[in-house]
Amino acid sequence: MLDTAKISAIFSSVKTASEIAKLIKNSTVPLKEEEIKLQMEELISMLANTEIELSEIHVMQKEKEAKILELEKILSEKDKLTFKEDMYWMENDNIPFCKDCYESNSKYNHLDSKQEGTDNLVRYYCNICDNNYCI
Ligand SMILES: [Zn+2]
Repeated sequence: MLDTAKISAIFSSVKTASEIAKLIKNSTVPLKEEEIKLQMEELISMLANTEIELSEIHVMQKEKEAKILELEKILSEKDKLTFKEDMYWMENDNIPFCKDCYESNSKYNHLDSKQEGTDNLVRYYCNICDNNYCI
């Protein structure tokens, strides 16, 4: 989550850096070399802090973008998912998913199928939870 404290720290660092630069630029009296060096060191420190804070925010932003893509993918998949014959079916996919695995862990586990016996029923088996289905 984007930390408002980090943003406040950036504004504070930029403001301080700006004030130091104005102090040096607008000085009506000649500044001593030592004083200028001291002010420049503080200015550089403020800019370095700003750079660090911005890079942390950049990383957080990238993490958020990745999370948004992941959630959009989940939402998109849910739109294509239907529930029938006690199993979940994805659009354009002839192999169903295990209901129990999906509902308990949100996992899409394709079921294995076998046509056994003379009843023409297809039996589906989940290799993860050992559940079985029959249609
Ligand atoms: Zn399962």
